[in-house]
Amino acid sequence: MLIECHSCEAIVDANELCTNDAESQFITDIVVGLYQCPSCHASLIGIKSGEETYPPKVERVWTEPKNKFHESIPSTVRQSLEDAKRCYDAKVYSATAVMCGKAIEFIVSDKTNKNNLFQGLKELKSKEIIDARLYEWSEALRKERNIGAHAIEVEIKRQDASDILDFAVAICEYVYVLTDKYNAYLERKGKTVGNGT
Ligand SMILES: [Zn+2]
Repeated sequence: MLIECHSCEAIVDANELCTNDAESQFITDIVVGLYQCPSCHASLIGIKSGEETYPPKVERVWTEPKNKFHESIPSTVRQSLEDAKRCYDAKVYSATAVMCGKAIEFIVSDKTNKNNLFQGLKELKSKEIIDARLYEWSEALRKERNIGAHAIEVEIKRQDASDILDFAVAICEYVYVLTDKYNAYLERKGKTVGNGT
């Protein structure tokens, strides 16, 4: 069974140790299996869902793939981050910067009415959607690394791409994931307070 091994960083033909059988499937159409990498012997958990592929392949769910981003992040943004990560892994650094720029632009257009990336970031800060530290980080990147519209015209080095990717992930997690988790916490807290009075 083909599955990506996190430690070999390769698609391997893993040994299937066990899977849930049809009767025990509490979610229809999803088969969960435990696999072992033939090369490094790492244990892997994969799921098989939807249509059969040839050769058969499962999607690794544990250990969690590096390219997966939290589901609170809108799918368009997540896609850009995943693409950015793939470009980075493939050492295509200018494309990494472009993909990160796309993710950040989406946040700006989602949360502000600005077309310009940096004016948008400024507004995100003034609306307290991002904090001062994230804003300063974006300013530093703008000055030093030239992220944004001209990313494609300048040579982006590995470290630059890594910095931009770190920032893009941080801002997405701050704006979407942290906010969702905090709101859920407030809601729970509100309910508890409500029940107590
Ligand atoms: Zn392996």
